[in-house]
Amino acid sequence: MDGTITVPQARPLIDHFGRHITYLRLSVTDRCDLRCVYCMKARPEFLPKSELLSLEELTQLSDAFIARGVTKIRVTGGEPLVRRDVMTLIENLGARLDTTALNEICLTTNATQLPRFAGDLVAAGIKRVNVSLDTLDEPTFSRLTRGGRLADTLAGIDAADAAGLKIKINTVALKDDNEHSLRELISWAHGRGFDLTLIEIMPLGEVDAARSDQFLSLEQVRADLERTWTLTPLTDNTGGPARYHRIEETGGRLGLITPLTENFCAGCNRVRLTCTGQLYMCLGRNGRLDLRAALREGGMAAVDALLDEAMALKPQAHDFDVSVGAATKVERTMAHTGG
Ligand code: SAM
Ligand code: SF4
Repeated sequence: MDGTITVPQARPLIDHFGRHITYLRLSVTDRCDLRCVYCMKARPEFLPKSELLSLEELTQLSDAFIARGVTKIRVTGGEPLVRRDVMTLIENLGARLDTTALNEICLTTNATQLPRFAGDLVAAGIKRVNVSLDTLDEPTFSRLTRGGRLADTLAGIDAADAAGLKIKINTVALKDDNEHSLRELISWAHGRGFDLTLIEIMPLGEVDAARSDQFLSLEQVRADLERTWTLTPLTDNTGGPARYHRIEETGGRLGLITPLTENFCAGCNRVRLTCTGQLYMCLGRNGRLDLRAALREGGMAAVDALLDEAMALKPQAHDFDVSVGAATKVERTMAHTGG
């Protein structure tokens, strides 16, 4: 496949609230080699492979977004690097980097496969990866991921670092599980020269535990960190939900993503496409459009028309609730939607 854009129009994607959509999060699989306790059940039911978008469809749908002004695509999942042909997709997207509006491809990964792929990712034009890591304690890592090995993730981080990828660590703040070791994790990341972003758990899909038992407020974490550290707010705006701070004592950057305690939807610049071609305009809402059906039945013109519909339907904000007894309004997990 070459880098030709097959949709002729170049109308930007602007929603009803005036937000300019320039960022696509593209899930390539719902499968994963780990089973994080906050992300999925111990025995998840994965989609049949026949439901997934083909490599060619993933590329075509990406092209439809690029033609409408999307400049950044994040490849995610599930674990994106367990999809067999993912490197071909990333290479296809990489070929669009200098020839289209697309100016950045990034990846969110649990890092276990990075020793194998880090060099290829750099060769395809990827400069940055987000790596999920919630603890540096081996038994806790094994328990949280239900059998994962901390050494594999650390080896992946080392491989990415050696290949020259810029690394950001993503850490879900979890009551009891890592509540008392976040300072150690932040110090480690900053010592390695990595930014770290803390994320409040979101009630996405049913898992085997109650969300209210997992949820840890970042307001509380921040107050705890500020007992001994100085957090200076930074004005850096990545267009994302994270609010960044410099920790004066470590010299590193700390991002805080607080969907529950502080809403950030006003600046939303993104939409999410699942590995089955469902377009979600908001991570925290159920509204979706079927781009796979549009592509298969009406081709790229039908996809382009649905992107206009998507802009009309994008909601103003999510309405997450993790209080005791709250019903899970969003039935799909983060691994399904694409984290
Ligand atoms: N497997 C890759 C990884 O773990 O980085 C990519 C997909 S994963 C679904 C993307 C991100 O979503 C990870 O940082 C993970 O910690 C986060 N995540 C998963 N379930 C979540 C939840 N219920 N609330 C908040 N973050 C969640
Ligand atoms: Fe897999 Fe990422 Fe979900 Fe963990 S958070 S189970 S690594 S998809």
